[in-house]
Amino acid sequence: MERLAALTMTLLMVAVSITSSLNVRNPPYEGQKYLIITIDTEAQSPRQSNDHVQRLIYGNFSDGRAGILEMMDEADQAGVQLTFFVDVLEDTLYPGEIREVLRTIHARGHDIQLHQHAYLIPDETWNDWQSDPHWHHHEADPLHKIDCWDEETADFVFEQMISVLEEENIPLPVASRGGSYAYNEAILNAMAKHNITTSFNYEPQLRKDYFNEGTQPMFKWSNGIVEVPVTYIPVPWTLSGLDRLDDTLWSSWFLNRHFDSFFDASNGDTVAVMIFHSWSFLELVEHKDGEYFEYSNDKKVKQFSKFLENIPDDVEVITATDLADKISDGEFEISTEYDVAKVSNHCTNPQ
Ligand SMILES: [Zn+2]
Repeated sequence: MERLAALTMTLLMVAVSITSSLNVRNPPYEGQKYLIITIDTEAQSPRQSNDHVQRLIYGNFSDGRAGILEMMDEADQAGVQLTFFVDVLEDTLYPGEIREVLRTIHARGHDIQLHQHAYLIPDETWNDWQSDPHWHHHEADPLHKIDCWDEETADFVFEQMISVLEEENIPLPVASRGGSYAYNEAILNAMAKHNITTSFNYEPQLRKDYFNEGTQPMFKWSNGIVEVPVTYIPVPWTLSGLDRLDDTLWSSWFLNRHFDSFFDASNGDTVAVMIFHSWSFLELVEHKDGEYFEYSNDKKVKQFSKFLENIPDDVEVITATDLADKISDGEFEISTEYDVAKVSNHCTNPQ
């Protein structure tokens, strides 16, 4: 009997603590709530056996297609613009094909920004670049790791990315995100030099090995670049207490509540940044020689469509370009600032 009473008491205490954690109420967010839907658009060679761009970017398989064209179809239907972070340097790996992707996205009126998986750049390209008169004598080591780059290397590579966009008449980028959220001080400085004013690199859960102050609203680096963190939604019932705003939330019944709790807990002006990939409509299938993304059905296309329909009325979808404009118009108060030297180098980390 005594044991039963103790058990009841414990259960009661757990219930009270869960209820009180759910009842922590921040003052409501005062600004307009914005959402940027970002799609890392890439054809990483280990993710398929061949036809990489067709399969991993267009999701094009013999039994069906579910990729960026379907994403844009659904977005157009919902009247929203998507922001594609394209690994432009894959043009060196799949000549012509990435340019076609850029032209297709741009022709349909969606936003294009920069993403980079430097390990995909072929050795021949590095050799060509190293014999370019603009190359310099300091070399990052190893070159295929973004967070090992020094400022001259970063500068040179950003110039290569920008020249591809210029040649294709795509508006100049205002935002960049490194592959696996890799970045460093040299990259942020090279971005500033090229008027790429917003960094979409800060990932407070996956990159705890980097500069990390936990979840943050938008903040400023000391070189003037604005960091736009990946969104984590406070969810007290999970182990980490946080849930990333990505394709796992497409089917959530509680989008209203999720957006409210994210913005109310933000501690400053911010925007919601949703993360997914050009292959997010595909399934990861195990094969003898690797794990490949493959088309299985259009279930995820439907989930994405439902998600777009269910975005709360008080949340406005904007692009990274819109955000950069709003920041320069002074729409946000960005009061937190960190020294850019705090992300000086992470060269020892795997990527
Ligand atoms: Zn990527």
